Amino acid sequence: MKTKTDVAVVGGGLGGLAVATLLARGGRKVTLFEKSRHLGGRAHTTEVEGYHFNLGPHALYLEGAAARVLGRLGVPMRGGSPRGEGSFALRGNQLYPLPSGAVSLLMTDLLGAAGKLELGRVLTGLGRMDAAALEGRSLREWLDEHVTREEVREVVAAFFRVATYCADADALAADAAVEQFQRARKGVRYLDGGWSELVRALAGMAKDAGVAVVGSARVESVEREAGRVRGVRLADGTEYEAETVVVAGGPRDVAALLPGDEVLAGWAAKARPVKAASLEVGLSKLPRPRALFALGVDRPWYASVHSAWARRLAPEGGAMVHVAKYLGGREEEASEAELEGVLDVLQPGWREHVVTKRFLPGLTVMNALPAKRLGERPGPRVEHVRGLYVVGDWVGEEGLLVDASLASAETVSRLLSTETGARAA
Ligand SMILES: Cc1cc2nc3c(=O)[nH]c(=O)nc-3n(C[C@H](O)[C@H](O)[C@H](O)COP(=O)(O)OP(=O)(O)OC[C@H]3O[C@@H](n4cnc5c(N)ncnc54)[C@H](O)[C@@H]3O)c2cc1C
Repeated sequence: MKTKTDVAVVGGGLGGLAVATLLARGGRKVTLFEKSRHLGGRAHTTEVEGYHFNLGPHALYLEGAAARVLGRLGVPMRGGSPRGEGSFALRGNQLYPLPSGAVSLLMTDLLGAAGKLELGRVLTGLGRMDAAALEGRSLREWLDEHVTREEVREVVAAFFRVATYCADADALAADAAVEQFQRARKGVRYLDGGWSELVRALAGMAKDAGVAVVGSARVESVEREAGRVRGVRLADGTEYEAETVVVAGGPRDVAALLPGDEVLAGWAAKARPVKAASLEVGLSKLPRPRALFALGVDRPWYASVHSAWARRLAPEGGAMVHVAKYLGGREEEASEAELEGVLDVLQPGWREHVVTKRFLPGLTVMNALPAKRLGERPGPRVEHVRGLYVVGDWVGEEGLLVDASLASAETVSRLLSTETGARAA
């Protein structure tokens, strides 16, 4: 006997949990399958000896779709926003005050007078720019057109890197980059206790809304008949009948679930993942308590003491630090030693205080780099397979990173409620 459900959701990351909860609250019977033992996907937080590490540095964009959807669902997003103090630009092995605002721009010796003037002008202009008008251009083209001095271009490119996570300015779409830059300027938040707090809250809400969550359950295929879905089959052979299937994974996951589908295979082949290397360090003490953030200017580095801004990330007196390298473009690989070298500059002497440390060389930050305008990303509705939808950071017209995942989750719930309304009428 096949189990019946209205909607089968494949994937229990934030995207899958959000779409399942929205649909269940809208009155649908929803079953969610997650192949891993724990929910959360890339929003998982690992706890080691009282240190809470996200899977690489994570910041929630306060003006993004994720904050909007989580707010609508009632998920708490407690945490702290990094402010300018203790922030540096890193060039060579040298730290300079990070010129991110008017005062730090005046103070920094990263640039000469003419460079400071140009940077001030570019940053002000960026804040007001109509991102949609940049459609069809790469970030590199935009930088070449709008920034004269090479030293200033480096700094502006570094700000784009930290906002978008993409190091490949030649490939990244300028409209997506500028929109994300403007969003980042409105504020980001590091979350108390890490992103697992979002997962925990959402999982509780999913359960309260009646979602049946099936863990350690890998969906092997989406079953279809006469151009529409009819359910899913798990790796252990169990089958579920469903008139709607939402796949909340990457483009390769979707293509693998419907083998032989050329459109889906094409999406997977075209998607160029955005990667990063991550070094997570738990320290018993911060050697330089006033050095909290470093952004690489001539190399794609990032280092930030997340526990300085968010609570419950490190035990009392300790510090939790994320170091990362944005991969892509000319920098495809990273070694642990390189990332440790970045921390040597920001926090000399840190090695004497290490409690725990983890290096992850190639994390997938985004399933697809937005190389064209956002409107050309696939989904969420899969037009040629009735009843099939996709949710993720590579889907739909809005946002990057988790903003795209949750915006696409919201769109799926809206599309399905419109369909139900139309059917009932
Ligand atoms: C290093 C790093 C840094 C990041 N920083 C930020 C940041 O600062 N800001 C931000 O907004 N975002 C950031 N992100 C991205 C963010 O983590 C994700 O966008 C977010 O967690 C939402 O992911 P998702 O639910 O779309 O996909 P995932 O979290 O990837 O979830 C997909 C889930 O589907 C499951 N699955 C796949 N196939 C199957 C199958 N066949 N059967 C059952 N289950 C299946 C997977 O196990 C997984 O749990 C970062 C990511 C990384 C890796």
